[in-house]
Amino acid sequence: METITITRAERLKQKPDPDTLEFGKVFTDHMFLMNYEAGRGWHDPRIVPYGPLMLDPSAMVLHYAQEVFEGLKAYRRPDGQIQLFRPEENGKRMINSCERMCIPPVSVENFVEAVKAIVREEKDWVPSAPDTSLYIRPFIIATEPCLGVHAALRYIFCIICSPVGAYYASGIDPVRIFVENEDVRAVRGGTGFTKCGGNYAASIRASERAEEKGFTQVLWLDGVERKYIEEVGSMNVLFKLDDKVVTPMLSGSVLPGITRRSCIELLESWDIPVEERLISAQELFDAADTGHLEEAWGSGTAAVISPIGEMDWNGRKALLNQGKTGPLTQRLYDTLTGIQWGKIPDPFGWTEIVT
Ligand SMILES: *Cc1c(COP(=O)(O)O)cnc(C)c1O
Repeated sequence: METITITRAERLKQKPDPDTLEFGKVFTDHMFLMNYEAGRGWHDPRIVPYGPLMLDPSAMVLHYAQEVFEGLKAYRRPDGQIQLFRPEENGKRMINSCERMCIPPVSVENFVEAVKAIVREEKDWVPSAPDTSLYIRPFIIATEPCLGVHAALRYIFCIICSPVGAYYASGIDPVRIFVENEDVRAVRGGTGFTKCGGNYAASIRASERAEEKGFTQVLWLDGVERKYIEEVGSMNVLFKLDDKVVTPMLSGSVLPGITRRSCIELLESWDIPVEERLISAQELFDAADTGHLEEAWGSGTAAVISPIGEMDWNGRKALLNQGKTGPLTQRLYDTLTGIQWGKIPDPFGWTEIVT
């Protein structure tokens, strides 16, 4: 990548109180930008003051949603240094998303370099209160002004950062989830395995309805038979069934979460077998009735691990671990967050200090 130029903001913002932060509402002083033009490639990497982007109203992203994004965090270690968690995995996943959406990819090396550059610039924004972090949102949008449907000839790669408070104000708290029978999030052959805005646009209705009924999240079923479990809200989902853990296989409509992969690698290192396979709602609810479904949790960068206390499928209920956080769920949460915040050793080499 060319040298990243830096234009600093004239006045810096007041840092917010980490206790009252809502997710993704406050942004730092600067952002990273890079442009793409067919024939020229990615060029002009730069850090500039955070602010609105100038877009032509006919910019293709606004009409046909040619867009991909990523999400990762920078963590403040007890020794004051700042670290990232498996950023290369985000870079690789963004390349896969780009490939599906016909967007010219940014190399893993350049992706990580850009993330590190903006984090370095915004280092004072990485909070140090317990469980707080700086959320990093890289994204690419099609900016070519054109209403014809084709792969755009111009793009912007942008990275913005937002300080986030503790996800759980008072310890991790199990959520109630609703098995969605009507809307589907993704289908095989579609874009479910990518991180793209379109997947989210299509998911909002089900979330709104579930919320109205008093549930926190939707449990998505597969788009073909509406029989197999896929994800929970915007997280992957894992279940403890007797002495093993099962999680939906990456069939094309499930997002390959980095937290999911890290859970699997941790569980295997603890000699707990993990099966990646099809899991029907029927199997799960039957296992819950007979006491074999011991724990369930969602996994994702934002919440890390989100225990599931109760599930509802067409009025059929399953209560998990009496609605409390299970011991394996807690152990995963403690280990993952311990490694991410640098409070315990990282034997996997997952963390990278930003110098
Ligand atoms: C980002 C995301 C996840 C979780 O991925 P992580 O890499 O663990 O943060 C799961 N499902 C969906 C739909 C997502 O967009």
